[in-house]
Amino acid sequence: MKPLSKRTGRFTESVIRHMTRISDACGAINLSQGFPDFDPPRPLLDRLAEVVTEGPHQYSVTYGAQNLREALAAKFERTAGVRVDPETQVTVTCGSTEAMICAMMTVCDPGDRVLVFSPFYENYGADAILSGAEPVYVPLVPPEYRFDPALLEKGFREGVKALILCNPSNPCGKVFSREELETIAALAVRYDAWVITDEVYEHIVYAPHRHISMASLPQMAERTITCSSLSKTFSVTGWRLGYLIGPEEAVAGARKVHDFLTVGAPAPLQEAAVAGLAMDEDYYRRLNRLYTEKRDGFCAGLDRIGLPHNVPQGTYFVLVDIGRFLRMKRFEGFDDLRFCEWMTRRIGVAAVPGSSFFREPVNHLIRLHFAREKSTLEEALRRLEGMAALLAEEAPV
Ligand code: GLN
Repeated sequence: MKPLSKRTGRFTESVIRHMTRISDACGAINLSQGFPDFDPPRPLLDRLAEVVTEGPHQYSVTYGAQNLREALAAKFERTAGVRVDPETQVTVTCGSTEAMICAMMTVCDPGDRVLVFSPFYENYGADAILSGAEPVYVPLVPPEYRFDPALLEKGFREGVKALILCNPSNPCGKVFSREELETIAALAVRYDAWVITDEVYEHIVYAPHRHISMASLPQMAERTITCSSLSKTFSVTGWRLGYLIGPEEAVAGARKVHDFLTVGAPAPLQEAAVAGLAMDEDYYRRLNRLYTEKRDGFCAGLDRIGLPHNVPQGTYFVLVDIGRFLRMKRFEGFDDLRFCEWMTRRIGVAAVPGSSFFREPVNHLIRLHFAREKSTLEEALRRLEGMAALLAEEAPV
């Protein structure tokens, strides 16, 4: 047989989704792949029930149903203060996963370089390979996950087509400040680069931090492709509804890629999602309060148990430091992936190994998410307490 493409040989399957499969197979509490275990808001479900009988059940316009595009444009104007034309500047995709790859394939030719902050959401590595782009990584340095503007400028100076900006940032929970965004924007303008953003956690941001869309900064709407999703905002990750918003020419390119990749996102679900976008500010306030309580409760639980962790400014992820475990004799030879697999099977809590997000050789972190019902999080903490007890049992080697 002739060999398969070199392209697919260059990346592995998603470690996040791999951990979910292991978790399901052993009935663990899945705090690996980030998705809620609670229901979407009632208006979406009620509308979906109507759509079952009323339709639509056939294709929508390939780039998204008109009423959904109009609702997304109105939301973008409300939240980012940027007026966009739903006819030409908004495209609905199958999740922001598809929005990102469409944006990358639209902006990049093989060999083009793209700046990516590390740690980064693992899809960007595969997106770069699939679009032929060469990622150039700029570290976000813990504990604040700040970047060095000089290093970033060096990356721009060496010639890049685009920068990928995940804000709020998966997995480190960083919310970029206005000042940081201005630094990035100034470099993007000076070196004439595109910015492709991933803003799926835009409504999961903890006070006093605030989400600012890159496209809202002066001169940035014309060079930013904003990718986002309804998955996290309305707890509908399985509906696969994402979108991208940007200048007309870029969106026209992305529409072609999207059309030939997937034709369109599910029409009935697009229709039901419009009911979500019709909800007022109170919905977003309640969502924020819900996740703030979860974050505070989960982080306090980790503190009680004695597991060191960061405190996210946004998103529903925490990075937990497992360095002390890895120095124990019982875990000799373990890397973070093996530790996560062990933890899923033996402790009954699934996490994602940090190494799948970092360009640097980081092996001592695991990512847990807290988009779970309170009782589930309490049970997960109880199990993790059992794991933490190991630390008292055995002195480090
Ligand atoms: N963004 C979520 C995570 O990082 C999951 C997204 C996905 O698996 N498509 O876990």
